[in-house]
Amino acid sequence: DEGLQKTKENFLGKIGRALAGKSTVDEEVLDNLEEALISADVGVDTTVKLIGRIEQRVADDKYLNTAELNTILQQEIAALLTDADSEDYRDFETPADKKPYVVLVVGVNGVGKTTTIGKLAYNFKKAGKSVVLGAADTFRAAAVDQLTVWSERTGVPIVKQAMGSDPGAVAYDAVRQGVATGADVVLIDTAGRLHNKIHLMDELGKIRRVIKKVLPDAPHEVLLVLDGSTGQNALEQARQFTAATEVTAIAVTKLDGTAKGGVVLAVANQFGIPVKYIGIGEKMEDLQVFNKFEFVDSLFS
Ligand code: GDP
Repeated sequence: DEGLQKTKENFLGKIGRALAGKSTVDEEVLDNLEEALISADVGVDTTVKLIGRIEQRVADDKYLNTAELNTILQQEIAALLTDADSEDYRDFETPADKKPYVVLVVGVNGVGKTTTIGKLAYNFKKAGKSVVLGAADTFRAAAVDQLTVWSERTGVPIVKQAMGSDPGAVAYDAVRQGVATGADVVLIDTAGRLHNKIHLMDELGKIRRVIKKVLPDAPHEVLLVLDGSTGQNALEQARQFTAATEVTAIAVTKLDGTAKGGVVLAVANQFGIPVKYIGIGEKMEDLQVFNKFEFVDSLFS
């Protein structure tokens, strides 16, 4: 996979060096491997879990060579990742009883939230779904402008109001329009000002409440967007957002051009929330449905 090239080189290089000159898996190999995984942005918690599982297999097996270790590592990494029903996502299907399917998109400014919404609109539309965008990040004129550009680019209607208006009101209107026009999907952009957690909680809480006034079971999805190129910082943001609001899915962006893609493993493991999408470029085609087996495969081959 082209988009993950740098991550893969980094990952394989580090693991390769951890095992260099060793034929059997001993304590030193495991120590080296632990260091390699942490430095490849897999995160301390996830790495410790992984090493623990591998240690167990080494203990069960008595004699394990380093060639086998690669396979075991792949299996154990995949086993640690939260399962997502990726077949449905792949087709950009939405549940028939959730129409419109309302997705609240959250994340810090600059992580690629707007771009991800544009890419999702493109993919849903391509799958034959009708989409409405809601520009509920009313704090930055640029955010509304950018989402408008995506709306034009993808040919999808956008609901917006003047800058500074109430984000809840925009979300409400967007869902209403989705219902009124029989849309399949409503994608709502939100402001990501993480410097004030109380404010963030209040604002997202309010948006959720007004959405429920239109559709009691919505939002059906709260998608947290994280910038993969920020490595451990993305993990920190995931901690903060999951503490501030209920997050049901994660998108990790900018995995092209970064060696820090190992953070996807940490994110996918630590929060019990599936990574649903990965971003591998700036264009609308550059969104992939995350599949843990394919991801692990592309790291190792
Ligand atoms: P927002 O502030 O979170 O809405 O972020 P934007 O969607 O405006 O994205 C910020 C910048 O990151 C823009 O220049 C995007 O083109 C870029 N970007 C977003 N996703 C990706 C990605 O997957 N790969 C790359 N290389 N750039 C991306």
